[in-house]
Amino acid sequence: MLTAIMDHQHFTAIHHSKEELLNLRKSLKTFTCPHCSSPLILKIGNIKIPHFAHTSKLPCILETKKETPDHIWSKALLYKRLSQLFQDVKLEHFVKEVQQIPDLLITERGYRIAIEIQCSTIPLSEIKERTEGFRKGNIHPIWILTQPLTIGTPLKLTSFQQGFIRFSEELHFYLLHFDPSNESFTIFPHLTPVSTNSFFFSKEIEIPLDTFTIPVSILPPDQANSLFLKNWKRYREKWINNKIQFSSARRDPFLSEVYREGDTFLYLPLFIGLPVIPHMTLIKTHPLQWQYYIWKDVLKKSPYFTREMIYSAFMRRLENGSIETRNFPLHSTGSSIKTLINDYLCLLEKLEIIQKKRGKGYKLTAKWICPKTFIDYQQHEHDLFPKLKHILKKD
Ligand SMILES: [Zn+2]
Repeated sequence: MLTAIMDHQHFTAIHHSKEELLNLRKSLKTFTCPHCSSPLILKIGNIKIPHFAHTSKLPCILETKKETPDHIWSKALLYKRLSQLFQDVKLEHFVKEVQQIPDLLITERGYRIAIEIQCSTIPLSEIKERTEGFRKGNIHPIWILTQPLTIGTPLKLTSFQQGFIRFSEELHFYLLHFDPSNESFTIFPHLTPVSTNSFFFSKEIEIPLDTFTIPVSILPPDQANSLFLKNWKRYREKWINNKIQFSSARRDPFLSEVYREGDTFLYLPLFIGLPVIPHMTLIKTHPLQWQYYIWKDVLKKSPYFTREMIYSAFMRRLENGSIETRNFPLHSTGSSIKTLINDYLCLLEKLEIIQKKRGKGYKLTAKWICPKTFIDYQQHEHDLFPKLKHILKKD
């Protein structure tokens, strides 16, 4: 922690030089915790920037956060920058009505923003709980991930890191990351998954700390899908091959369902497993799998169907666990599933797989006959992929 009470006043370590702090420590001044009033020691070392720590092991809410050197350093950096932008920025301030101590609290014209810096892995349920707590107290929370990322294309994110993904109209699903060693933020916009942990993105946006603002003001990049699309087919095949190689048809519930149904897993129609941008990012289950369920549960059974039928089939699968969503505690899922279904149907319509009927509902127009040979299947690919590329590029 960076704040303490000294001589009945708030004392912030980052406002003083190392020499000043060393002198203070020599002068035998006493520091106490602003929250629990128990004694603190001033630590001045080489790894972490000067900070305070409780001497007793009594539980204090200020001591529950695991503060790594990166965490303390990020907090100090952000405090410095935000204090240039806002008059009222508090460090480690206890907000009584929500019983939480955000790293930073900004108060501006009656509006409050809590900044939480997260470096170590904690349960996502804790982030969700604290986010809801802030919202109930009318405080807008901003979570900033500072845990180092494995940068590359695609971007690999652990399920904890995925928990920081948020949605905006312009950036779609995106991640805000802060690197204290570079003193710079990076936004990864338009995150589109190709596997459980790998995501393509349009173009990362670098924001040096000294130009960072809240709200973040940036020029959103075009949603350049071309790189993703070029790779989509390859990743779809990779997923299929992995399934065949590493899962046993008897033990894998999805594979055994496909076989029981009499379908050939290798030759499923290509309109099963389409990229439905952007909302498919929400679904952890591979598109091939959830779209197969839609096909099996609805399209195959009743060639005349409604959107509601698809939606309830999807929800049933979600409830029984055959479809899983990603855990995004900062995103309120709300109507996202409905949008996802709508977008998928729209795509099928454009590909002339289904047709809107006059009045209500749809009709399956492309009858699927399973190819007998690989060459026949390639013909199907040859017919569908150029169409798909054309459609997705236009969007
Ligand atoms: Zn305390």
